[in-house]
Amino acid sequence: MTRFADFHQRSLSDRDGFWAEQAELIDWHQPFEQVCDYDNPPFAKWFVGGQTNLCHNAVDRHLAARADQNALIWVSSETGQEQTYSFRQLHAEVQRMAACLQELGVKEGDRVLVYMPMIPEAAFAMLACTRIGAIHSVVFGGFASGSLASRIDDATPAVVVSADAGSRSGKVVAYKPLLDEALRLSVHKPRKVLMVDRGLAPFQRVAHRDVDYAPLREKHLKAVVPCVWLDATHPSYTLYTSGTTGKPKGVQRDTGGYAVALAASMKHIFQGQAGETYFSASDIGWVVGHSYIIYGPLIAGMATLMYEGLPIRPDAGVWWSLVEKYKVSLMFTAPTAVRVLKKHDDAFLTKYDLSSLRTLFLAGEPLDEPTAQWIAQGLGKPVIDNYWQTETGWPILTIANGVEKAPTKFGSPGFAMYGYDVKVLDDATGQELTEPNQKGVLVIEGPLPPGCMQTVWRDDQRFIDTYWKTIPGRMVYSTFDWGIRDADGYYFILGRTDDVINVAGHRLGTREIEESISSHPSVAEVAVVGVADQLKGQVAMAFVVVKDVNAIPDDAARLKLEGDIMKTVDSQLGAVARPSRVRFVTVLPKTRSGKLLRRAIQAVCEQRDPGDLTTIEDPSALQQIRDLL
Ligand code: ATP
Ligand code: MG
Repeated sequence: MTRFADFHQRSLSDRDGFWAEQAELIDWHQPFEQVCDYDNPPFAKWFVGGQTNLCHNAVDRHLAARADQNALIWVSSETGQEQTYSFRQLHAEVQRMAACLQELGVKEGDRVLVYMPMIPEAAFAMLACTRIGAIHSVVFGGFASGSLASRIDDATPAVVVSADAGSRSGKVVAYKPLLDEALRLSVHKPRKVLMVDRGLAPFQRVAHRDVDYAPLREKHLKAVVPCVWLDATHPSYTLYTSGTTGKPKGVQRDTGGYAVALAASMKHIFQGQAGETYFSASDIGWVVGHSYIIYGPLIAGMATLMYEGLPIRPDAGVWWSLVEKYKVSLMFTAPTAVRVLKKHDDAFLTKYDLSSLRTLFLAGEPLDEPTAQWIAQGLGKPVIDNYWQTETGWPILTIANGVEKAPTKFGSPGFAMYGYDVKVLDDATGQELTEPNQKGVLVIEGPLPPGCMQTVWRDDQRFIDTYWKTIPGRMVYSTFDWGIRDADGYYFILGRTDDVINVAGHRLGTREIEESISSHPSVAEVAVVGVADQLKGQVAMAFVVVKDVNAIPDDAARLKLEGDIMKTVDSQLGAVARPSRVRFVTVLPKTRSGKLLRRAIQAVCEQRDPGDLTTIEDPSALQQIRDLL
């Protein structure tokens, strides 16, 4: 058995040899001549001269061995529909969609913007694009017109694929009026809009522009559209970051490096076997949806379960009922979803037969210890945290049990993954902090490994300036996250670089204060921000969602709990970290992907403009905070 430390070491010291081996996990039409071209840093080109195709690796290559096994399982708890597609059926549907796109004039290199709910046609559209070399740009369904319009102008798509509506918590969310408005606002006008009609919300067709998918698909029932062999460096898609810290950045991904990186992660990190089922409860609008709903599991020959709906509807057992029904082996979700489940009866976790499930993976935001303990104990399954970014496409820090079994440590996602040369740097001096438990910015030494972003879409300069020029005197990729590495090589994420506050000269991570507050038994969720203060420079302000609002019926009860929480912080971190106020709200402002919008809370507290809010989930959450102040 290989030791992970050696595996990791080799990925850096014999980079090309290491990745050439990983490249054998996928099919190549033409072998590559060079593993990595890093002559023009920070731009890395992987598998130069090679030709492959993502859709071929996800679909076609499995036909020989598993044509009649499940490839896509679609479940909507919103509409009560379920549908499964074998690899053979998926292959046919993707070709039908590809033929439709071609009939609408889509050519290799064209962009196709996908603005869709979680329905099978969204997966067909993504795979159809990569099949013919069109670059997909998926925009989270239900985004408001303004956000959609700015993405349309950035991607300048030839065609938009959309649907009449999504559904959330049983309520129809009409997409077409949002899209029409976005297309009125945008400067760029796509030639055609391909509309999937689910029969949820009647819509107006714009003459000469809008085309219905169903009749067009009928025309192409027998479509044979071969995969186009693409250079490994051909862009496969663009995707925006979550917009947690500011204006979203348009990440551009390649083809060959991405396919290899995903195949390798399915083997070494997720340990997925062909023929098994993977259930990633995310959305195709996010990077997790791209990597681990669509491409990763399919490349590994697994069935992927695509779910439209909430984790608590019809009840908080719905996910586990699907695990039982479809014998799910691996599951992936975000801590925010677990926190939602945690507000419901624990008995749901043991109601169904979960014997098929091996591991639950969590990513996207800090996993606090109470949440991790609750779900791990409730399910009786290992829970593995993994830390990464839209930019990287696959985990930077986690545990690679497929290489060497390693224990998890609560609060830590794990080690630096193979291919990632992660360092902890002092942000002021650029000095590397090599001693254990020293706090600094997590950076990655170039080249970024396969699968990571190639550049910012159509803006190489922004790629350099945003990511590679933030540390004095060093050209390294900044994650914009604080962290430490302990003596065993485990990393701990301490929050984002702009979430550090300075109280009377003490630098404190808001995340540390949040961890402390969330250890209080009455606290369900918390956000801490630094607010400008004349005396101390900054003070910490905490906004707490309690588990039971009935426990704080009046001001006296609220004050008492506020005092209790402050005492908790005092005893764990010291009085210097004590928030100046603890305020109670019923919901925290988050992005649609479930991330805390601390910068917006901070701006409101400081009576500033909260900035780009295009990705906010529930604007009333910010209003609650405004009203409190
Ligand atoms: P933007 O870059 O637009 O501000 P964002 O950083 O939230 O938005 P994503 O790429 O979706 O966009 O999120 C990546 C970030 O999420 C990481 O940089 C980190 O701050 C946080 N994150 C992801 N996974 C974890 C994890 N397991 N533990 C702690 N933080 C995590
Ligand atoms: Mg980010």
